[in-house]
Amino acid sequence: MGLQHGGSRVNFLPFHRPTISRRHVQAVAEAVRSGWLTSAGKVLEFEAAFAKRVGAKHGVAVNSCTAALHLALIAKGVGPEDEVITSPVTFASAVNVIEHVGAKPVFVDVFRDDLTINCCRVKDAVTRRTKAIVATHFAGWPAHVAELEDAADGVPIIWDAAHGIEVEWCGWKSGEFGGTTAYSFYATKNITTGEGGMLTTDDGALAERARLLRLHGMTKGAWDRYGPSGYKHWDIVEPGWKYNLGDVQAALGLAQLADMDAWLKKRVALDREYRKLLSGIVPCLTGNQPDTKAAHHLFVVFVPKRDLVMDFMQRMGVGVGVHFRAVHLLEYYLKKYKLAGTLPVSEGASDRVLSLPLYPLMTLKDVRRVVDVLLAALTLV
Ligand SMILES: *Cc1c(COP(=O)(O)O)cnc(C)c1O
Repeated sequence: MGLQHGGSRVNFLPFHRPTISRRHVQAVAEAVRSGWLTSAGKVLEFEAAFAKRVGAKHGVAVNSCTAALHLALIAKGVGPEDEVITSPVTFASAVNVIEHVGAKPVFVDVFRDDLTINCCRVKDAVTRRTKAIVATHFAGWPAHVAELEDAADGVPIIWDAAHGIEVEWCGWKSGEFGGTTAYSFYATKNITTGEGGMLTTDDGALAERARLLRLHGMTKGAWDRYGPSGYKHWDIVEPGWKYNLGDVQAALGLAQLADMDAWLKKRVALDREYRKLLSGIVPCLTGNQPDTKAAHHLFVVFVPKRDLVMDFMQRMGVGVGVHFRAVHLLEYYLKKYKLAGTLPVSEGASDRVLSLPLYPLMTLKDVRRVVDVLLAALTLV
């Protein structure tokens, strides 16, 4: 991905840099020294702390958000002949997993202002075959929760909270919207374990199934097999996956979780500075739902000649990102479903969205520099 590229180049402001404090390193070192490197006590601790923070009963730690989404679909019984509604403004892996279970992704366009799935369109897309809806809290702006639940009319919603651990909607935290929620601890996300993810739910049976499937479908994990109570035989109940998170990563996750709210405050301040400087000059992505809290994961602007602006900014020492080129326009999906031209809002955004750096290690001065370079790019390209 090259996200940290330029980290060694003098004066290059990378698109993202995770905050790794001495305390985080200490936590990882302790986990390594403990001798338990695979899933055991630290994972249990991380699951409990994370689930509590997002308001869910159960947390199932996995090695990516993609794995969490995959397991959520399987646990909901989604399979061949089924349809899953999603928007094309998401990371491709969230759609890949629909293909993995043999179901058909049904793409629904997004709202123009916050690029979250358009719940009015969802209503029209629901058929007898619809088995799930995957909804993203895009860039950290919460999806339109109540309207979506209304439109879903009982179809389970899987929330993709890869950008939105901290989102709140009418006082409800991200794990309290009902259904199943998938989180990411990838290197660029609001908290990181390097690679990692979590599935949360209030449904105990679903959590149990996800726990089984994340480790081969095996009845006993390593802790049960090799822990203090002596060796025990295990069985395979159904062929599962190798999706478990290790204790070293869980230790980092736990340490990061403790800083998450302070980091959000920093991003809010950076976001405010961007908006102040760009107001009336460059359109910025903004959610507009009352009584909600955003997670401020990305700062997205809409610009003409996006790819030229991007190249210019990179050459001027500012790392940028693109979230996202519409999934239905990516080669595999384009060839298979031939939907180009049918989702105008997503397609318009696909060519114009540009993500500016937004992370706690940045200063307000960095924001001013990014804006100067962006404005220079816009006059020159
Ligand atoms: C990052 C991301 C994912 C995938 O997360 P991984 O942990 O890398 O699997 C899924 N959905 C969205 C919206 C993302 O941004």
